[in-house]
Amino acid sequence: MNAYRSLIAAGALLPQVLFSQLRSDADVLYEMRNQVRYLSSDRLEGREAGTPGERLAVDYIAAKFGNVGLMPYGDSATYIQAFHFQAEPVLGEANSLQLGREKLVSGTDYSVLPFSANGVVRGKVLRVSYGIQAPELDRDDYAGLDPKGRIVAISVSSPDGIHPHSKFLAFHDLRIRAEKAKELGATGVVFYNDDPAAESPTNGLSSKVKDCGIPVIFLQGDRYEELLVTNNPVVMDVVIQREERTAYNVVGMLDFGKQDIVVIGAHLDHLGWGDEGSLHRGEKAIHNGADDNASGIAVMLALAEDLANMEHIRASNYLFIAFSGEEKGLYGSNHWTKHPTLPIARLNYMINLDMVGRLDSNNTIGVNGVGTSPAWAEVDHTQVENLKAKTTTSGIGPSDHTSFYLQGVPAIHFFTGSHADYHKPSDDEEKIDYNGMLRITRYIESLIGSLNDDGKLAFTKTEDVNTENTPRFKVTLGVVPDYLYDGRGMRIDGITEGRPAAEAGLKVGDVVVKLGAIEVTDMMAYMKGLSQFEKGDTAPVKVLRDGKELETNVTF
Ligand SMILES: [Zn+2]
Repeated sequence: MNAYRSLIAAGALLPQVLFSQLRSDADVLYEMRNQVRYLSSDRLEGREAGTPGERLAVDYIAAKFGNVGLMPYGDSATYIQAFHFQAEPVLGEANSLQLGREKLVSGTDYSVLPFSANGVVRGKVLRVSYGIQAPELDRDDYAGLDPKGRIVAISVSSPDGIHPHSKFLAFHDLRIRAEKAKELGATGVVFYNDDPAAESPTNGLSSKVKDCGIPVIFLQGDRYEELLVTNNPVVMDVVIQREERTAYNVVGMLDFGKQDIVVIGAHLDHLGWGDEGSLHRGEKAIHNGADDNASGIAVMLALAEDLANMEHIRASNYLFIAFSGEEKGLYGSNHWTKHPTLPIARLNYMINLDMVGRLDSNNTIGVNGVGTSPAWAEVDHTQVENLKAKTTTSGIGPSDHTSFYLQGVPAIHFFTGSHADYHKPSDDEEKIDYNGMLRITRYIESLIGSLNDDGKLAFTKTEDVNTENTPRFKVTLGVVPDYLYDGRGMRIDGITEGRPAAEAGLKVGDVVVKLGAIEVTDMMAYMKGLSQFEKGDTAPVKVLRDGKELETNVTF
């Protein structure tokens, strides 16, 4: 970097002073190929948020922003905005369990439940049947027993079994029973399954689950009668490694001194060696993510360089953001929109580029979110490079435009479609269609040009919220949960008009803590709560609003 360039990087000079010529198509293609090759090379190990590979991508993009002469809009005078997230928890090596004289093997003989706390506990077994204390149902499994300092053994079933019409539905959740045991002074819990009709808990740990305060395990198999005899000594050591990590967005602006700002974004992260989102089975392998989403970053960089030189479309400033943590749940865009580095009211609209590298022979470009503003009708009239737009309306989708839509910003997502390599190690550079990416770049430039004189676009809410419409549920609340929220309960990030939550008067920011009889401790419990209802059911819902409890009824 020469001295002149560092002046630009520091935002001291406007870019158009230095660059006035539009690049040739060949130059753009050459640059895009280099960028995708680097970002999807094994050296970056799949760019998982919170890893050194992500950091290489971040530094590379920040350097490109500097070359174009963008004004730094990250933390203080840098392009980089740091944020924190909970990494996927992993079981430590030290986990151990001894029941009586028997040493048991983690993963085979027993599993650590996701809401278990860490710690070593020593004590004696106390059998408390289902571990339910419910005076309103005339049931007390602790009657005449003192669980203080004991390790309680609890059946995962219930007094009337596990089915949707059980009178003890509110207690089916094992976490609720573990919390009760803790409240009564127990130091640990061992669950077991003595009911062929009851499902055994799965052992997947999750960053979205909070711990319940004491170690909790599930004893697999049918040796519970022999091993969980009251007064049998127990030593339990649970080690779940829960780690907070740091990831980075990259933010820079083409500043033409305008009030309105157009955001152009793309996520920089991918799945590393294959985290939760991987569809790969078999030996671990680097997920290079050439289409997902090195392609989007390359088109974003091409737009930055071009827009710096397009003097006829300067009614707005252009803010470029490379988001991290998209694959883990839109973390980076969620963070930026909640901690924006400039007033969010200045945003005109947002264009998201996620997976734009597989246009191939298909002349159709997917454009999602056109319901977020009437102005997007323009998309249908934009005929450039022989591309046809295939549109969907919802502002809610599985990518970063969603975070902007939820803040009331018109937002669309460009997408060349899914494919057999999606979220697999085979999403590689040689399958990228660079000519297609160039055509999409030109298409977007033309679209931005045609919106140049329209002033600030009107925002409209869209109808369908599809994130929770998984087939497991017969009903939905019509809300978008905040996946970054890590307090107790489920925080609402978005609400769809006309759906149950809106009809019940729930608001964005409310934290749902109880749904029907189910305590909503986290996302997992929320989904369990939903699965209890049928269409037409009415249930009480309890939320926290500005720290105060509020109860109302919701009709599904
Ligand atoms: Zn992806």
